[in-house]
Amino acid sequence: MATPRKIIIIGSGPAGYTAAIYAARANLAPLMINGLQTGGQLMLTTHVENYPGFVDGVLGPELMETMRKQAERFGTDMLGEDVTGVDFTRRPFVVRTDDTRFEAQTVVIATGASATMLGLPSETLLIGHGVSTCATCDGFFFKDRDVMVVGGGDSALEEALYLARLGRRVMVVHRRETLRASKIMQDRAFAHPKIAFLWNKEIVDILDPAAGKVTAVVLRDVVTGERTEHPVDGVFVAIGHQPNTAIFAGQVELLPSGYIRVEPGTTRTSVPGVFAAGDVQDSVFRQAVTAAGTGCMAALEAERWLEAQRLG
Ligand code: NAP
Repeated sequence: MATPRKIIIIGSGPAGYTAAIYAARANLAPLMINGLQTGGQLMLTTHVENYPGFVDGVLGPELMETMRKQAERFGTDMLGEDVTGVDFTRRPFVVRTDDTRFEAQTVVIATGASATMLGLPSETLLIGHGVSTCATCDGFFFKDRDVMVVGGGDSALEEALYLARLGRRVMVVHRRETLRASKIMQDRAFAHPKIAFLWNKEIVDILDPAAGKVTAVVLRDVVTGERTEHPVDGVFVAIGHQPNTAIFAGQVELLPSGYIRVEPGTTRTSVPGVFAAGDVQDSVFRQAVTAAGTGCMAALEAERWLEAQRLG
């Protein structure tokens, strides 16, 4: 039987890579199980201009590739497989992929969250080219342009209010005629002169993949069935996020929203020795830099935990 790993990191976004860099430099010889979608959500973006250290910005996939190389440089072992199951009820912990069973003294969960998408083929083709799931990340590219936000929850209104500060006109498209968002957000959005609402509408197509950019959307009125085309420069999809926690249900405590519960100000989960970093435990900030920050915290906390257990 192989010796248990000191640390296994599950997931390979900014949180996972940062945890790997810190753990590798602390001589913990980390194993990172990347998942099949290596690199996380930044692989779906083009320019990243708010990650510190890049004066002219950096492409999302390039940033992730750089982080991967940095983690490897200090001796992180990478495995390009999905984790299919874990057992945190016994020590060492067990982490399984389709092919292999690993044991680890500590685990960092950094599996992220996935933005819920509309599911249109044109949306997939135009993501990063006018279709976005993050106004804080991409809003700047739409300064003084017309944009559309899809959704009727707090996220949609938060995105709309942020974009209205930069954009000429923000249209919020919602599939019903009442919002799910909190009253205070509704009041702010209704009062904003740059925000307009398109009620009872769903986006059925986004134009124009052939041009490689967003030029218009086709809306369908869910009451009348009528289809109309609206010129627009960008589409922000804000219909919710799903934390990637299915395989951890019953193993660590989850919040009702599905995110992993951590002790405030730490990355400690309900299981001593298991830490969670990045969007999988953060439904609020969801930024690459905050994910990287908590990845660093998780590695340092894992290192200290190993020392306290005399396993380090
Ligand atoms: P949410 O509350 O679940 O709202 C999702 C919205 O997207 C709903 O209006 C829903 O429509 C719509 N939607 C879902 N699937 C759709 C589809 N396929 N096509 C079109 N529309 C679709 O999600 P959220 O806004 O991301 O918020 C998640 C949680 O975080 C909430 O508890 C929220 O209060 C909280 N949050 C708080 C703040 C804040 O306080 N500043 C900011 C962001 C988020 P229906 O209404 O018809 O279901």
